[in-house]
Amino acid sequence: MPEEYMSDEEYITLGSSACPVCRSTNIGYDSLDCDGKYMSQPVECEDCHSTWYDIYKLEGYADLDVHGKTREAELQALEAWRLERLAMQQQP
Ligand SMILES: [Zn+2]
Repeated sequence: MPEEYMSDEEYITLGSSACPVCRSTNIGYDSLDCDGKYMSQPVECEDCHSTWYDIYKLEGYADLDVHGKTREAELQALEAWRLERLAMQQQP
């Protein structure tokens, strides 16, 4: 990418709030598209009419709620299921 355009680092620091070409903050966003690991969002500068995509990367997950169960209850349920399977396999 030519030097006169904003670097990725600067763009990220600004939080996708300015055009990488003319640095206008008069920019418009289209709808996000997700492929599982990445999300992309078309962006257009309303001043110089440059277009580009913002890229978002999956970093993990948060606030896991396993139907209100605790970890202990999960393990007990798993153990019960395992014993049940074992009992079934031992039947003639
Ligand atoms: Zn621009």
